[in-house]
Amino acid sequence: MANTDNKNPKMTKKRRRELARELILRYEVGSRFSNSDTLLFGQICGYEFEWVERSAPKIGSAPAVCVSYPAETYTGSWGWRKSIDGYEQRQNLIGAMRLASRAGTFKQVKKDMCAQCGSNDLLAVDHKSVPFVRIAESFIKEQGKPAIQNVDFGWELVDPASFLEFHDEIADYQVLCASCNSKKGAKV
Ligand SMILES: [Zn+2]
Repeated sequence: MANTDNKNPKMTKKRRRELARELILRYEVGSRFSNSDTLLFGQICGYEFEWVERSAPKIGSAPAVCVSYPAETYTGSWGWRKSIDGYEQRQNLIGAMRLASRAGTFKQVKKDMCAQCGSNDLLAVDHKSVPFVRIAESFIKEQGKPAIQNVDFGWELVDPASFLEFHDEIADYQVLCASCNSKKGAKV
């Protein structure tokens, strides 16, 4: 059964840090989170990760993780405490907008193989010409910040339809493997 904390929009940062820590400690160093724990960890931190892996601590014995964060084509070590401490409005807003965008043309992209190298290893749908965050920012610039509401851990747009329409007029996609995706990120 779901933890009742999931329903509490006022969950404290302290509680989020405890939950994140408990989650990490369930795994051995070097092992990757299950899909549901990846989702949960992302919700606690306010980011949408593709995968999360427990890594060896750098300093002392504090539990550490590596993540893949496709929205910013980032793969590497992740300061999870810092992301929880900085869990704030912008993150919530961008997350809610990303969620809304998933209901449109994004859903129709077929993940068959990498558009650049033909591999089918760890494929992800990538915003090809305009990064998602840039689409979100131009919407905010033109129409103001959309209203968001809390649902469980996360946030959603009160009116997802207007952003979805705006997003789908601009967005085009390509399917990339993890390796080509990280090379793309490195070029920016
Ligand atoms: Zn590739």
